[in-house]
Formats: sequence, structure tokens, C-alpha cells
Amino acid sequence: MAYPELKGKVAVVTGAATGIGRATALAFAREGVQVAVVDWNEEAGQAVVSEIASESEKYSGQAIFIKADVSKLADARQIAEVTYQKFGRIDILHNNAGIQTYGTVVDTDEEVWDRTLSVNLKSIFLVSKFVIPHMINVGGGSVINTASVQSQVSLPNSAAYVASKGGVLALTREMALDFAKNNVRVNAILPGSINTPLLQFAASQEADPAKAMEEWGKVYPLGRIGTPEEVAGLVVFLASPAAAFITGAPFLVDGGLAARAF
Ligand code: NAD
Repeated sequence: MAYPELKGKVAVVTGAATGIGRATALAFAREGVQVAVVDWNEEAGQAVVSEIASESEKYSGQAIFIKADVSKLADARQIAEVTYQKFGRIDILHNNAGIQTYGTVVDTDEEVWDRTLSVNLKSIFLVSKFVIPHMINVGGGSVINTASVQSQVSLPNSAAYVASKGGVLALTREMALDFAKNNVRVNAILPGSINTPLLQFAASQEADPAKAMEEWGKVYPLGRIGTPEEVAGLVVFLASPAAAFITGAPFLVDGGLAARAF
């Protein structure tokens, strides 16, 4: 247990069925945090809850699954209500659910633009709207928003995705200012390429997916892409008292990618 003070706290993790969110949910449960695993993928989400329940020596926190579409207001309200009913408080929110879409502004359909902005950005507004009041009630909390290295540097052919992730960073700063007086800290994590189903889907669009993954890794100064666990460690740190004076800040977890000029 890296942060004993987290034991007994309650976290909501969105997009927790797979990838970075799954790793975060498991990392919190390892710290004794009670976790609401939120996702629209019921099968994979329930599997995360079962994993936490069946390995009680490894995971001292409990977990529940909440099926929700985080881009819908009624679902966002339900996430806060169900978590509070089950655990009696909410201290931590990892706004992490996201989708990757491709296209320039010329060839992106309006529906794709709207869906990308709704899932990646509007969801943070909606879920935070209902969760932050619970944090205020318990004297503070920590919100961690998953942005992307593409919030700061761009790749071509991903107009809607890049716009959504730039928005996440701007919204993070704004939320941090609004709720600093309530001791609710709000920070953003900016992952580079992380080996998750989302990245595996991106690779599947290439002629040789395995080769594409390998080539992407070579672009990174550390010579490889990252793991979900390497992102989860940062999220747990930001939720912990060790980060008590940190708010409104962007945290790159990108193997040095954004540091490189060429
Ligand atoms: P992932 O596809 O493994 O996980 C995303 C999860 O979000 C999935 O379980 C999916 O079912 C869920 N989800 C998607 N839309 C949802 C909705 N409307 N309601 C509820 N759940 C929904 O991908 P990941 O790589 O773990 O991505 C997590 C976050 O990290 C995303 O915000 C993504 O943009 C960001 N990110 C990922 C990478 C990477 O290389 N993997 C890099 C930078 C940022």
C-alpha cells in the first residue's frame, strides 16, 4: 500500500472496464479505496469488479459496477447517486472514458465530431456536475481528467479527438479555480501511446498492426509505448495527500514524447 491515507476513500472511475481506467480501478482497490467501476461495457466492467472481489488479499477495497453512458446527463446523475447510496461518500473522480476518432475537418462527419466531443469532453462536465457536490460535503476531493499528449502537441488526421483533448485541459484549469476554495483539486493526465484496446484499435487500422505498434514505440525517447499501470500510478498519486498542493496542472506520462523537437 503506497498511500495508507487513501484506505476507506471512495472513487468513481469512468471508462473503467478496460485499459487505463481498469488499471486505475485496480490500483485504487489495492490501496483500500472503494471503487465505482463505470462503463457502458457491462461484461468487461463486471469482470473488473469480480477480479477485485475474488482477490481480497491483493485488493482490500470493494467495487461495484455502474453501467452508464457518461455523455448522457441522466446517466451522470445516476453515477453519483448509486455511488453515494452504496458507499456513503465520494472523494475521488477519474474522468477517463474516451473514444478515438480520425479525420481532418474536411472529412469528419458532423455526427463523429459531436460524438467525440460528447464522450471525451462533455462527459467531464456532466459527471463532475453531480460528483463534485459530494466532495464538497466531505471537505474536499480530487478530480483527475484524462486528457492526452495531443492536448499539447498534435498528430494529423484527428481533428475532433485533438479538439476534445485540448478542451479537457482548458476545462481542468477552470474547474481547479472554481473549486480550490472547497479543497477540491482538479488535475489532468496527458498520456502518450499506452497499450490499451484503444491503441490496439488504432493499430488495427494500419496494414501491419504489430509492426505499427513497434514503430510507434520507436518514436518515444524511452523507446517504447507505455502500460496502463504506468498511468494508473500517476492517477493514484494525484488522488493522494502526497499531491495536496497540486491543482490545475497537466501531467505528461508520455515517455518523453512532447520533450522532443524532431
Ligand atoms: P480503452 O478503449 O481501453 O478504454 C476506454 C473505456 O471507456 C472503454 O472501457 C469504453 O467502453 C469506455 N467508454 C467509451 N465511451 C464511453 C461512454 N460514452 N460511456 C461509458 N464508457 C465509455 O482506452 P484507453 O486507452 O484506456 O483510454 C482511456 C482514456 O485515455 C481515453 O480518454 C483516451 O482518450 C485516453 N488516452 C489514451 C491513450 C492511449 O494511447 N491508449 C493516449 C492518450 C489518451
